[in-house]
Amino acid sequence: MAETNSRMETILKAEKLTKDYPVLKGLIIPKEIGRVKAVNDISFEIQSGETLGVIGESGCGKTTLARIVMGLEDVSSGSVSFMGKTIKKGMSKDLRRHIQMIFQDPYSSLDPRMSVRRILEEPLRIHCKMTKDERLDRVLPLLEQVGLPAESLERYPHEFSGGQRQRIGIARALILEPELIVCDEPVSALDVSVQAQILNLLRSLQKEKHLSYLFVSHDMSVIRHISDRILVMYLGQMMELADKRTLFETPAHPYTKALMKAVPVPDPEIKDQCHVLKGEIPSPVDVPSGCPFCTRCPKSMGICSQSRPEVNEIEDGHFVACHLYNKEEAK
Ligand code: SF4
Repeated sequence: MAETNSRMETILKAEKLTKDYPVLKGLIIPKEIGRVKAVNDISFEIQSGETLGVIGESGCGKTTLARIVMGLEDVSSGSVSFMGKTIKKGMSKDLRRHIQMIFQDPYSSLDPRMSVRRILEEPLRIHCKMTKDERLDRVLPLLEQVGLPAESLERYPHEFSGGQRQRIGIARALILEPELIVCDEPVSALDVSVQAQILNLLRSLQKEKHLSYLFVSHDMSVIRHISDRILVMYLGQMMELADKRTLFETPAHPYTKALMKAVPVPDPEIKDQCHVLKGEIPSPVDVPSGCPFCTRCPKSMGICSQSRPEVNEIEDGHFVACHLYNKEEAK
């Protein structure tokens, strides 16, 4: 444990990240009629060897956040850096090799015309000067680590099951020996039994290679299984950020509590076990003024629809954006 702590360092730092897109009207000469904030003023850090889970409903901005960290989107304001180097669209090849991605859909994320050998060797051809034998020396042990036989090398993606394809996707993400992997819903397209295998594989690879994960999911049980800390998002904004234990044992934000209550308990004795959050998530084009959750929050007060709550650190490492925890208003 002491050894692990001594190796902990901040590898990713996001400060006040905001990403907005224009809302256009008109077919012939489109006119900008507003802006939609997919990610709004979010700050967080990821330590080496840690998994930061990001959870929220569809459309909350978690995938945009993942794409910004991958350098696939530029930010509108704020900054994100990896080991002190700014991440942006078109960043250098040298920086890109340190951050890799595992995609949601193992069916469409692999080129059906390429054999597994070509899929895994391609990043090495682009980023490293290696001979054919050196590439094979890197690919073969990795195949074994992700649980695929050496014979898989000359086969094509359509010859594999969904879980096996995701193993190929994981091997591709690992081939350049990155430090940070962005996982965008990597198990949501898989059967439940296969999900557990892939999550366990990701955890054992993390331990072995001291990897950091930014893990995006809408599934609370998946996030609970894999994460060390969890960031809860709603309509592009951060609602709560805490370590896993704190978040599950003493959730503070009304939205986090609602998400927890919405998870069904597999016990027929417990009646009324699933509390569905009432109301629809508002359109990101028309986010409520004040707290974005105020139209659905059971604790909403007068101030909630008027002013946006600040993010407060209510205990060490536990951040909440809610007027119920605003120290100034509590006085
Ligand atoms: Fe609910 Fe108000 Fe807190 Fe928003 S700020 S979560 S509306 S109590």
